[in-house]
Order: sequence, then C-alpha cells, then structure tokens
Amino acid sequence: MRLVMLGAPGAGKGTQAVVLSKKLQIPHISTGDIFRSNIKNETPLGKLAKQYIDSGALVPDEVTVGIVRDRLAEPDCAGGFILDGFPRTIPQAESLDRILEELGTKLDMVIDIYCSDDVIIRRLSGRRVCPECTAVYHVRTSEMARQGICENCGAKLIQREDDREETVRNRLKTYHDQTEPLIGYYREKGILVRVQGEGSAADTTAEIYQVLGLTE
Ligand code: AMP
Repeated sequence: MRLVMLGAPGAGKGTQAVVLSKKLQIPHISTGDIFRSNIKNETPLGKLAKQYIDSGALVPDEVTVGIVRDRLAEPDCAGGFILDGFPRTIPQAESLDRILEELGTKLDMVIDIYCSDDVIIRRLSGRRVCPECTAVYHVRTSEMARQGICENCGAKLIQREDDREETVRNRLKTYHDQTEPLIGYYREKGILVRVQGEGSAADTTAEIYQVLGLTE
C-alpha cells in the first residue's frame, strides 16, 4: 500500500501514520522527523532546514524532494510506504508523481485528516514530543506528558520550538496557502479520502481502517 497522509499541522498525520505503519508493516516516512533528526545532529541539511522550520515556513522544494527521492529508492519501500508531511506543495506532488513513475508505481490513496484551525491551535499548544524516540503526547490526555517523561524510553519530553502559538499561526497560514490545494489535486485523480480528525485518535484510526478495509 502506498499512502500519503494529508492534513494541517496537528491534524494527527503522524499519530495515524505510526499506527498504520505497524499495522501494514510498511515504513513511515516523515519529512519533519528527517529534518528534526538532522537539526539535532547539526548536519548541513539540519542547519539549512532550521531557518525555515523555526519561522513556520516550508523548506525549499528541491531540498525536500531530493530527500524523499532517496528515501523512496531504499529497498524497504518496495512493498509500500506511508508519507507523512510530504507532499506539501503542488510542485512537490508533481515531483512525487514523477519519482513513483520512475519506480514503476503510483499512489493508492491519499488520506486527508480534517481538523479546524481552532482545534489545531489548542492541540499544538499542549503537544509534547520525545526528542529521542519521536513519540508524541498531549498534556490533556497523558499524565506522563504532564510530568514531562516519555512512556516509551524515559527521555525528557520537550515542546517543539515550532509549536509556540505565533509559529503555529504561521504554519497554518502556510498550510492554507500552499498545502490545501493538494486536496483538489488528489480529488481530481480520484484517490482522495477525507476522515474526521477532530475527535480522538482512536476514532480517526477506526475511520481510516474502515476506508482501507482493515480490521482491528
Ligand atoms: P511536520 O513535523 O510535518 O509538521 O514538519 C515540521 C516542519 O518541517 C514544517 O513546518 C516545515 O518547515 C518542514 N517540512 C516538513 N515537511 C516538509 C515538506 N514536505 N516541504 C517543506 N517543508 C517541510
């Protein structure tokens, strides 16, 4: 299965991608995670990406497309993959079509997780992430998150720099201006499905399972 998770920042793309990746046994490819790991390791890519990410802007297409092209050519992607956070612009989506064509394949489905701006702003302000294992929590639903400790690996949780309210507003604007047009792009191709992202993560998972014909 070759899937793209679409949706605003904080809609739940990453959370659902982790669940689906385990269920379907295919790699979860998050361009945001790739950038954050490069920032943490202070690589040249990390230094470049940080300037954009910290302001809520997008990393330039040619940089991001190159990363995804290399990743999709790796052997573990041959049986399918879940892209989370890519594509985010029409040119990226067109590049992805070309990359997949070169690999002799195409997308099966694009899952658009719908969530209003108000819900997103509330959600991201309480989001905490593990800098070691990338697990994601919310202070409202997790006691460990309130204590600031990762349930998986015991590391100290952090708030992402770009989850501060001012940056979240910029990210939402970036989403509406540059990423939302992808909904029409994929609807025209007949591979778009929309699921509700404002309820619990489990509700969204159930809806996605139904769409994909999966059982619990
Ligand atoms: P995410 O974790 O998906 O919210 O990504 C965090 C940040 O990384 C975004 O706000 C962008 O600055 C950058 N980023 C992630 N994916 C992309 C992409 N496909 N194109 C450009 N920038 C990206």
